[in-house]
Amino acid sequence: MLIQRGGLKVVAGLGISGVAAVNFLHEQGYRVAATDSRQTPPGHDQIPAAVQTSFGRLDEELLLQADEIIISPGLDPKLPEIQAAIAKGIPVVSEIQILRRATDKPIVAITGSNAKSTVTTLFGLMAEDAGRKAAVGGNLGRPALDLIKDDPDLYVLELSSFQLETTSNLAAEVAVVLNMSEDHLDRHGDMMGYHTAKHRIFQGVKKVVHNRDDSLTRPLVPDATPMQSFGLNAPDLNQYGVLRDDDGTMWLARGRERLLKSSEMYIQGTHNVANALACLALGEAIGLPLHSMLETLKTFKGLEHRCEFVKELHGVRYYNDSKGTNIGATLAALDGLGAAIEAKGGKVVIILGGQGKGQDFSALRESLRKYATAAVLIGEDRPLIEKAVAGTTELLHAESLKQAVEICRQQAQAHDVVLLSPACASFDMFKGYSERGQQFVDCVNVLA
Ligand code: ADP
Repeated sequence: MLIQRGGLKVVAGLGISGVAAVNFLHEQGYRVAATDSRQTPPGHDQIPAAVQTSFGRLDEELLLQADEIIISPGLDPKLPEIQAAIAKGIPVVSEIQILRRATDKPIVAITGSNAKSTVTTLFGLMAEDAGRKAAVGGNLGRPALDLIKDDPDLYVLELSSFQLETTSNLAAEVAVVLNMSEDHLDRHGDMMGYHTAKHRIFQGVKKVVHNRDDSLTRPLVPDATPMQSFGLNAPDLNQYGVLRDDDGTMWLARGRERLLKSSEMYIQGTHNVANALACLALGEAIGLPLHSMLETLKTFKGLEHRCEFVKELHGVRYYNDSKGTNIGATLAALDGLGAAIEAKGGKVVIILGGQGKGQDFSALRESLRKYATAAVLIGEDRPLIEKAVAGTTELLHAESLKQAVEICRQQAQAHDVVLLSPACASFDMFKGYSERGQQFVDCVNVLA
């Protein structure tokens, strides 16, 4: 029997998480309506007929009738229609808030400018391998409100700054901000706004993990909150970090204990060592056995479009890092691969560009000067990038990704790396980063 609850819930913005929110609230017996500025928003055919809909514009009249608005992460709360509702005292919350209200099971909450998906996926596997019934999703894969049907013992959530902006008192069992670099400034205004949104992840948190190499990840929480850290330097007792042997062998370590050689992991690069250490610290916080987590680290293959090796042609290695959609990610890829080929005299030919999201591209200057022999620029913010990095390396232009790959082939020599890591969003030329990555892979595969 369906219970009928009072108060209208209006879901603003459909798409994957909006559909999950509509269906969940409907099943819970709420009166639900949905509005979206698009005439036929994605998922419009996946919601119950009983749900009132208003598509083609954000329906302010409908929003003003709400007892609560569930806003999709893709919608900016600063939109006038949403602001009008806020001014009338109507609460505007994320679907993550609804999940928190619906369950008292522990949540492992993961955010950061980069590495969220890698860490969330890897951590989900660690939990599963350790025999825990974990549901993994949020900003990655399945939407948060879909996970409830699994009736898990543990939620592992990747959270974006957009989701956190409208989430209060998440009360996570353990939470981490993996790293902080400029991103989404077009939406959050400045670094301060972005930082504030990210750090909402710590509201009511029980335990925290932070990154010693990035002070912006350190939370302001009461002293009594247990705090664990990870970093790429030698760890203090009980912390996670890196120890090096005289011969250069790099070890993942806890205090003075050497746990695993970095070369025993499939995923490579120092940024992935940091990601693995973050997972170990999170796992310790919820009681996952160490030996089982280390086994998972040995087998995890990494995700597509994240420094993914495509192929080697005439001694040139091609890497798809299409998910490098901000400067922080691109620096990790450029520095990581650049340092690895330096000894053999190899250099990086990098494809950069797309939508710049208000970032300051001069942060790329030092690494481009050090590791790149050329940068091929694509997309709408080419002029901005060109201006910001002029004089660091040879700058070339391409009208399409196909042309960019062709130019890279001409520029690269044996021992070099061709790297797609655009430091930009893709929407000016592609449906998203995965289409951009797939096109790159296709173009590389037809090179003879
Ligand atoms: P997110 O979900 O936060 O976007 P992903 O795991 O999808 O994170 O990775 C996004 C990009 O960040 C990829 O280009 C990847 O190579 C890069 N990256 C992965 N780990 C790190 C790290 N620890 N620091 C900086 N960049 C990283």
